[in-house]
Amino acid sequence: MPKAIVLEKSGDKVDAAVRELAAADFPEAEVRLRVEYSSLNYKDALAIVRGEPVVRQWPMVPGIDGAGIVESSTHAQVKPGDRVILNGWGVGERRWGCLAQSAGAMADWLVPLPEQLDSRSAMALGTAGYTAMLCVLKLERHGVKPGDGEVLVTGAAGGVGSVAISLLAGRGYTVVASTGRQAEAPYLKRLGASDIIDRKTLSERGKPLERERWAAVVDSVGSHTLANACASTRYGGVVAACGLAQGMDLPMTVAPFILRGVTLAGVDSVMAPPAVRKEAWQRLADETDRDLLALLSHEVGLQGALELAPRLLAGEVRGRTIVNVNA
Ligand code: NDP
Repeated sequence: MPKAIVLEKSGDKVDAAVRELAAADFPEAEVRLRVEYSSLNYKDALAIVRGEPVVRQWPMVPGIDGAGIVESSTHAQVKPGDRVILNGWGVGERRWGCLAQSAGAMADWLVPLPEQLDSRSAMALGTAGYTAMLCVLKLERHGVKPGDGEVLVTGAAGGVGSVAISLLAGRGYTVVASTGRQAEAPYLKRLGASDIIDRKTLSERGKPLERERWAAVVDSVGSHTLANACASTRYGGVVAACGLAQGMDLPMTVAPFILRGVTLAGVDSVMAPPAVRKEAWQRLADETDRDLLALLSHEVGLQGALELAPRLLAGEVRGRTIVNVNA
């Protein structure tokens, strides 16, 4: 009987519990995986605590990412025993997800686990790490180079932020970390940040243009923070926007775009095409520093994930949370 976190709607509330399910309870799928590890992302915490807008059907097994072994497959290209990563494509939102010992998927959604990774290290990175890599690739595609100047990373002590800092610093960029948790300064420096700024300097309404400072930005926060980051990006700089931890709004003017030629580049992980995913996961496998991955991640079980979800939404969880679905 596979165990899973099951979310059920009860009035305005979400009932979330770890339950044992019969194999027949799971929807039919082209490929069935034995999940080894999943992780707790911002979206998973939203699903567990608030349900909407993440959960699109009830009951739901959350978990937007997982890694494990193919158990059965009706697709010729995917064989039992293959080691794979599953993330995005509405998994854990529209379709039952990976905070479970078993998960279904379409064959096309799966990324072969790169040789240098195991299921646990893939989920230490998880969707947040893969999104951080998509942001780094976006900056590179727009011509940003390590010698260009300081790169700002917002939401620095969170999942996307922590991985982005380690990847950028590993490539030789000068990284400035914006955080609300000054106590995490030593951690952020160990990941590779050269300077730390208080997120309060970015989180209130600012001017249309500020002093030029950033050559590039990786932003997982949105709202005033993203607006101010754009306003202080240098002439011709690039801002990769992937998140909304502060808010979904973007209260700003077009001044940075039309007067400084700043590029605002959106990053989506859910529907990214297979070739982009494969490249991002391979680059993560090639470039991730194992010691830093251990530093920025910690492990819980399914019950632990339930307990941690409200704290993650409150911005209290550092780095990445690996979920051992068999613990
Ligand atoms: P985390 O909760 O791990 O990190 C978010 C960080 O943002 C926090 O640690 C905190 O960092 C900062 N933060 C939290 N609340 C606020 C606030 N009110 N104002 C300013 N800063 C705040 O989440 P993830 O890193 O997993 O995800 C970050 C964002 O990226 C989320 O919005 C998520 O939905 C989005 N995302 C988008 C993806 C995509 O496909 N576009 C994929 C993955 C994530 P600190 O304490 O250092 O200030």
